[in-house]
Amino acid sequence: MKKSATVSGDWIKELIRDFIANSPDNAMQNETADPAWDDVLVGFASGSDQIWQQYKEYVGAFHWTPWEVYNQHCPQTPAGPAELTVVSWVLPQREAVRRANRKVKKYPAEEWARIRVYGEAFNAALRRHVAESLQKAGHPAVAPMLVPNWTTVKSERFSYASSWSERHAAHAAGLGTFGLCDGLITAKGKAMRVGSVVAKLSIEPTPRPYTDHRAYCLFYANGTCGKCIDRCPVRAITENGHDKEKCRQHLVCTREYVKKTYKFVGYGCGLCQVGVPCEAGIPVKAAREALERGELPPPPPPLA
Ligand code: SF4
Ligand code: SF4
Repeated sequence: MKKSATVSGDWIKELIRDFIANSPDNAMQNETADPAWDDVLVGFASGSDQIWQQYKEYVGAFHWTPWEVYNQHCPQTPAGPAELTVVSWVLPQREAVRRANRKVKKYPAEEWARIRVYGEAFNAALRRHVAESLQKAGHPAVAPMLVPNWTTVKSERFSYASSWSERHAAHAAGLGTFGLCDGLITAKGKAMRVGSVVAKLSIEPTPRPYTDHRAYCLFYANGTCGKCIDRCPVRAITENGHDKEKCRQHLVCTREYVKKTYKFVGYGCGLCQVGVPCEAGIPVKAAREALERGELPPPPPPLA
């Protein structure tokens, strides 16, 4: 396979932006033919970053490192951790979609449910497109969420967890920190979806503009907010965090509602992602301003 000299961070960003702008898959499948997405944030992390091992220790041994998932699925072109780059992207929800979901109190707005199904189908197409384009350019690649052995497992600490977490990959690639509700708060907010690809490729990692994995959440930064607690219709969020099982059960219930009300097969919720200070940006002023200056935010105080 001939290596291309043209693949760089900017080349990958352009590849993703071009797909968002031109792919027919970028559609909400509604009557007005609106696009699912119109913006993106892209970050890169090295396969040799220590954070992958930390995830294994914190999330569980079942959580793959980039090296593990790459070598399982690209055995013809094996690579060591330092030869791998994780490309991660964030697709921020469009204002119209956020506005619609802000108005609901129990079940998702039609727009939100469409994004959960058709917007995520586009995200899967984007993963395939990035992996195939890198492959064609001479850089074997795999999208961890699309491999057949990706799975969720029962976890003592998290009730359940998966072999690859897109949000953790985005955190590693400098794109955001976790909030009280478990969502990832990015420079474009928490209302978004994420994707990633692992490639045999060397790209300068994106600096992580935080030292604390919760630096952008008001609750952890200064003990205020907690607005996502009140937005959750089934009280799956408390000051102790996010109850994944309660959340999952509610998501199951939304299927019937979506089918009956909007007449398509779908589901979704995301009420905790909108109508909250972290919906479309970083709500912690000191962290937001530090990011704008290219500095690290002050570390949050220890919880009482
Ligand atoms: S709504 Fe407030 S408490 Fe909840 S994740 Fe966002 S900033 Fe944190
Ligand atoms: S997605 Fe819905 S059910 Fe789950 S925590 Fe957020 S608001 Fe609650």
